Amino acid sequence: MSTSFIPASELPADDAPPAAPDFGPAARLTCRECGSSYALGAAYACIECFGPLEVGYDYVDVTRERIESGPQNMWRYACLLPVASYAGDEPNLNPGMTRLVRADNLARALGMTGTLWVKDDSGNPTHSFKDRVVAVAQSAARRLGLGTIACASTGNLAGAVAAAAARGGQKSVVVIPSDLEDGKVVTAATYGGTLLAVNGSYDDVNRLCSELIGDPLTEDWGFVNVNLRPYYAEGSKTVGYEIAEQLGWRLPQQVISPIASGSLLTKVDKAFREFVQLGLVADTPYRVFGAQATGCSPVSVAFREGHDVVRPQRPNTIAKSLAIGNPADGPYALDAVRRSGGAIGDVSDAEVTEGIRLLAETEGIFAETAGGVTVAVLRQLLASGAADPAAETVLLNTGDGLKTLDAVLGHVGPTAVIDADVDEVTRVLTTP
Ligand SMILES: *Cc1c(COP(=O)(O)O)cnc(C)c1O
Ligand SMILES: [Zn+2]
Repeated sequence: MSTSFIPASELPADDAPPAAPDFGPAARLTCRECGSSYALGAAYACIECFGPLEVGYDYVDVTRERIESGPQNMWRYACLLPVASYAGDEPNLNPGMTRLVRADNLARALGMTGTLWVKDDSGNPTHSFKDRVVAVAQSAARRLGLGTIACASTGNLAGAVAAAAARGGQKSVVVIPSDLEDGKVVTAATYGGTLLAVNGSYDDVNRLCSELIGDPLTEDWGFVNVNLRPYYAEGSKTVGYEIAEQLGWRLPQQVISPIASGSLLTKVDKAFREFVQLGLVADTPYRVFGAQATGCSPVSVAFREGHDVVRPQRPNTIAKSLAIGNPADGPYALDAVRRSGGAIGDVSDAEVTEGIRLLAETEGIFAETAGGVTVAVLRQLLASGAADPAAETVLLNTGDGLKTLDAVLGHVGPTAVIDADVDEVTRVLTTP
């Protein structure tokens, strides 16, 4: 752009306060517990009551047409996110607009008569839905002048942060429990940046990161899921927005989501409610269901026992991406499920493996353990009558099975190992 004449009256005075960072339609941070409001910044807990902060908006001019004319990725919903309108033009992984697969074979296998869909977020750039939350947090880090993006990860977040930083030319520090799957550690490490493997659980990692936030060492770090958590969490709304848009601007009757911290489930529900409030979809009833592994099922147990408080557990399950024993958004996930008339179930590790195989055999979708949890819990909820087999249902597959091969290793393999000989093939295929 050429230099143009700016009248002196429009030049900023030397002592003018710096312009507030551009967070698009986001206007404030609001405490979910007491409702106190704060300016947008790298804050995540209420000073009054320590409750978690959530982004509040003043939406303007949100229409179907505006969204439909946007890019084929999550930035088509920039007008509903705490990001500047140009955030999608900055270097990032451009996640989203993953496929919504009509899963007739799986529906038949589960005895469903209603239409079943799989929202397949394994198609994101680093093969999990975490690219969405990181993209929003990465934009917030830029707005707030934080040069390093960091996280406490159960696995997929590590790769998503390291890759986004690589693409964005930023520094990254990702912290993981040392016992994660090779597929998660190796991919995250290959993207570069600093990868710290901690001898301990995810909950130990999370506590370490919270302690690091006060330290001068981390002054210019944005921990995407700790001090940037209000922004990060909003990224998950795009899963719900896409489902509604891909269904032709309407809501499904049932949606089933895995629960780790409980954020994804909570935000899919928020996305549906926002679309109704903004008049983008009709106000049709829907129920939200949650899925956990029995080896880490604090939210499922609270649901079953009728508690509002989520009692922490020590995780022990192959579904490591869901292994958060003290889930930050557990109570809000419980609220969304109860308010909508849904339910939460949990399944054994053996059922997780069966769930992975069932989805692969029926639909050709190879999910990670979290997807196996979700499929197996849907089967359980249908069997118990908690979920309706005649209702249109969307199942979230949040990650890729190639990162959790151990879950099926030893359960599947070649039908036979043979010599390169036609007789051998004939023998194998004709022997009962
Ligand atoms: C992180 C994660 C989840 C759950 O995320 P929350 O928002 O913390 O509940 C589900 N599936 C996969 C594969 C994940 O990596
Ligand atoms: Zn508060």
